[in-house]
Amino acid sequence: MEKLRMCIACREMQDKRTLLRVVKDKENNISIDDTGKKNGRGAYICKNEVCLKKCIKQKSFNKAFKTNVSDDVYKSIEEAIVGQRKN
Ligand SMILES: [Zn+2]
Repeated sequence: MEKLRMCIACREMQDKRTLLRVVKDKENNISIDDTGKKNGRGAYICKNEVCLKKCIKQKSFNKAFKTNVSDDVYKSIEEAIVGQRKN
């Protein structure tokens, strides 16, 4: 069985490998977790533009992490998802 996680945008359970993991560490720093091994509280989003747009519009990570997530973080999430599709 693969590990399933919920996408914060569409709220569907997905295989971890199809999701982008974003982590909030103890110092409240939020970063993209490319390895899936960073410590901290993780939230997941599908690597597709529909969920990306939804999460930016609704600021879903603010809710997931219960903190203010900067636009820079959303921008790097966008780059991680859109960039990957182009490659
Ligand atoms: Zn999704």
